[in-house]
Amino acid sequence: MSRPQQITVLGATGSIGLSTLDVIARHPTRYQVFALSGFTRLSELLALCVRHTPRFAVVPQASAARTLQDDLRAAGLSTRVLVGEDGLCQVASDPEVDAVMAAIVGAAGLRPTLAAVEAGKKILLANKEALVMSGALFMQAVRKSGSVLLPIDSEHNAIFQCMPQDFARGLGAVGVRRILLTASGGPFRQTPMAELAHVTPDQACAHPNWSMGRKISVDSASMMNKGLELIEACWLFDARPSQVEVVIHPQSVIHSLVDYIDGSVLAQLGNPDMRTPIANALAWPERIDSGVAPLDLFAIARLDFQAPDEERFPCLRLARQAAEAGNSAPAMLNAANEVAVAAFLDGRVRYPEIASIIEEVLNLEPVVVVEDLEAVFTADAKARVLAGQWLSRHGR
Ligand code: NDP
Ligand code: MG
Repeated sequence: MSRPQQITVLGATGSIGLSTLDVIARHPTRYQVFALSGFTRLSELLALCVRHTPRFAVVPQASAARTLQDDLRAAGLSTRVLVGEDGLCQVASDPEVDAVMAAIVGAAGLRPTLAAVEAGKKILLANKEALVMSGALFMQAVRKSGSVLLPIDSEHNAIFQCMPQDFARGLGAVGVRRILLTASGGPFRQTPMAELAHVTPDQACAHPNWSMGRKISVDSASMMNKGLELIEACWLFDARPSQVEVVIHPQSVIHSLVDYIDGSVLAQLGNPDMRTPIANALAWPERIDSGVAPLDLFAIARLDFQAPDEERFPCLRLARQAAEAGNSAPAMLNAANEVAVAAFLDGRVRYPEIASIIEEVLNLEPVVVVEDLEAVFTADAKARVLAGQWLSRHGR
């Protein structure tokens, strides 16, 4: 039997990281944990190291690294602790690594994910912000290194499963007319518009169907998540923004659909549990048990669909505009959103102001051509400054 595949989990302490480790632990002869990273939840990272005995652990600062290294030694483990972005890039590109789960949230995941791409690893991509920011450059790097890019986002994993068989061999989306990207509509789908100014971060994070990290939960409430996913789908499936239609489907049972020119529409269904797309990508093109219960269609009984309301969800409109504009616009959109969501989670801005901040940033800064990673980070930094100016001007 061949040796177990070595897996690096970037963002191991998060929601996707933990689900990934759950699936890996079900298949100890197939997968071994090579490295784990954490950022603030370092006692959880220690517990994960004890459970999964990785070769490396990565933390943000040297002081935290010393503490974790002492604790690991005291627990009798030989795990080596590395520090910061360099450490993340090292464990993402180590020659011994077979696959990298990119599950850091936000722009912070871009460099380590690209390091894994450039090293030709199999990439399990949860960190959609990395692809949204750097789209063309990211996909060029994938083609250059021959890296296998597998989507973890449930919608994109569903689309991937519904694409023509030859798509994964680089032969394009032959016969595909449209991609139908499903969205639950989040916790505020039916909240009276006048109440949206008073919703709290905890209400925004109480997603009806999925349990996720706080940033993506707020994105789901505002539907910026669907906007980022629209951009993500364009890059992953070589589609134009006009080919991607968002469909509100409150039950989150159909994870997305592909509409073919002959009128066939293929869908992937399943319980809303991220272990399904994670297991699918980990084992692709094979199938493994994920621990997810079988779908009970009789219990679900009905599936509903409706068109999204862009007045209720202005972030969806802004993301579509950024997708159409391309170049630096998606990086600006993403960065402004990261600043606005962090401020909302801190209680410094009201929920409807998230969209106002992003719209102002996109209106103030012209779209520029992006030819290298430096241009992406420049756009990201400019958007953060402008969003910060909005906050100070409003006394937040
Ligand atoms: P979480 O907030 O639960 O986890 C984020 C992870 O990233 C944690 O391990 C966190 O460390 C780490 N992290 C946070 N900031 C930094 C930083 N600046 N540098 C290095 N590491 C950092 O998020 P999720 O797991 O929910 O989401 C992760 C990614 O997956 C996001 O891009 C999200 O959009 C995507 N995704 C998530 C889905 C889900 O169901 N959760 C579904 C589809 C996509 P610590 O916790 O130690 O602070
Ligand atoms: Mg998704």
